Amino acid sequence: MGALDDDVAVTFETRARELDRLHAATDLRDRFELPAGLVYLDGNSLGALPRGVRAAVADMVGLQWGTDLVSSWNDHGWWEAPLRVGDAIAPLLGAGPGQVVVGDSTTVRLHQALHAVASLRQDRRVLLTDAASFPTDLYVAAGVAEQLGWSVVTATPDEAPAALARLAAEGRPVAAVAYSQVDYRTGRLWDLPGVTAAAHRAGALAVWDLCHSAGALEVGLDEHQVDLAVGCTYKFLNGGPGSPAYLYVAHRHQREAANVLPGWHGHARPFSMEPRYEAAAGVARFRVGTPPMLSMAALEAALSAFGGIDVATVRRRSLSLTRFLRDALEALVPGVEVVTPQNDARRGSQVSVRHPQAYGVVRAMAARGVVGDFRSPDVVRLGVAAPYLTHTDMLTAARTFRQVLDGSEQLDPSYTSRAQVT
Ligand SMILES: *Cc1c(COP(=O)(O)O)cnc(C)c1O
Repeated sequence: MGALDDDVAVTFETRARELDRLHAATDLRDRFELPAGLVYLDGNSLGALPRGVRAAVADMVGLQWGTDLVSSWNDHGWWEAPLRVGDAIAPLLGAGPGQVVVGDSTTVRLHQALHAVASLRQDRRVLLTDAASFPTDLYVAAGVAEQLGWSVVTATPDEAPAALARLAAEGRPVAAVAYSQVDYRTGRLWDLPGVTAAAHRAGALAVWDLCHSAGALEVGLDEHQVDLAVGCTYKFLNGGPGSPAYLYVAHRHQREAANVLPGWHGHARPFSMEPRYEAAAGVARFRVGTPPMLSMAALEAALSAFGGIDVATVRRRSLSLTRFLRDALEALVPGVEVVTPQNDARRGSQVSVRHPQAYGVVRAMAARGVVGDFRSPDVVRLGVAAPYLTHTDMLTAARTFRQVLDGSEQLDPSYTSRAQVT
C-alpha cells in the first residue's frame, strides 16, 4: 500500500478500536471456542462452537446413552426435546411458546410447510417465490407443485405485492408466498412485515425461510402474523454440523394444517401403537420420526450462547460490524463491488463482494486466516456472526482482501481448483 493508503488504514484502525470499545458489552467471543488468530466469516454456513457444547455432548453420550440407555427417553427428557428446544428457539424468532418444533432438515420442513399451505388454501393453486432463492427451496417448490398440480410463479419479494394483484386479476389467486428473509447470496434483507401483509390482503399465506436471519436479526413471527416458517440451526444459531431444523406453525393454523409426513412421533398417542394415524394436538403433530438426539443435545446447549442477550442487541452489533466492513472494503480495496445493500434496513448479517475470481479470492484469504465462502457464480461472501466478531476483525478482513489482490494470489493454481464443498 502507498503512503495515502497507510493513512487511511491508520484511520480505520483507530475507528475499529473506538467501535470495539463502544460495543464491548456485546462482545461474546468468550462464549465460543475459536482458534486463536482466525477471523471466521463463515458463521452463516457453519456457526462456531459455543462453550458448553462439548460437556453437553459428553454427558449425552457418556451418561444418557452410555449408562442410562433407553430410560433416557423419560429420565432425560428426550421425548419432549423437539418441543422444548423449539420453545428455546422461539424467542429468537419473535414467537410465543407452542409454535416451533425441531427435527429433520430445512428441506423436509419446507416440504411440510408448503403441503400445509395446500390444506389451508385448497381452492388456490399458485405459489409465488423468488427465482434467486437458495436452490433447495426452489427444488422443494417445484417438487410440491408437481405433486399438487400447482404452478410456481417467480417474483422478488419487492415485486410480490404487484404480482399478487396481477395474478388475482387473472383469476389465478396465490395460495402462498414462500421467501427467504435474507438472500443467501447478496445478503439483501427483504421486507418481511410488508410482504406478509400484502400476501394476507390477497388472501394468501406467508411462508418464510429464516436460515440467514434467525439468530442474527429480529424476525417478529408473531407480531407480523407470519403463517409458517422454517430454518436451519447450524448457521447463526451455532447448533453444529447437521443440527436439526425447525418449523413454525402459527397457533391459529395448527388445527387445520395437515402434516404431509405423518409419523409416529406426531401421533396423539404414540405408545398405544395404533394402526390408524391420529394427529397430536398443537405443533407436536408436525413431528415426524425419531429425532437426531446427539445433534439435538448439541443444539440445546449451543442456544445458551444467546443467554441474557436479546436478538435486537445482537442486531445492533451486527449492523455496526457490517457497516464498518462495507466502509473498510470500499476504502481499502480499489474497485471493489459490494453487492450487499448499504441501507441498514435492507442489509442482513453479511457483506458480499462480486469478483471475477471470487473462488480464488476466498481460498487465498483463507490461507491468510480469514475464512469466508464462495457462492456461485462470482460472489465472495463474508458472513458476520456478531456475537464472536469485532470491528478489528472486519478491518483484518478488508486488509486481507487487499493483500490478496495486490499479490494476485487469487490466480494461484492451488487456489483456483474447486474443492467439493465451496
Ligand atoms: C442453508 C439453507 C438451507 C439448508 O437446507 P438443509 O435442508 O438444512 O440442508 C435451506 N434454505 C436456505 C435459504 C438456506 O440458507
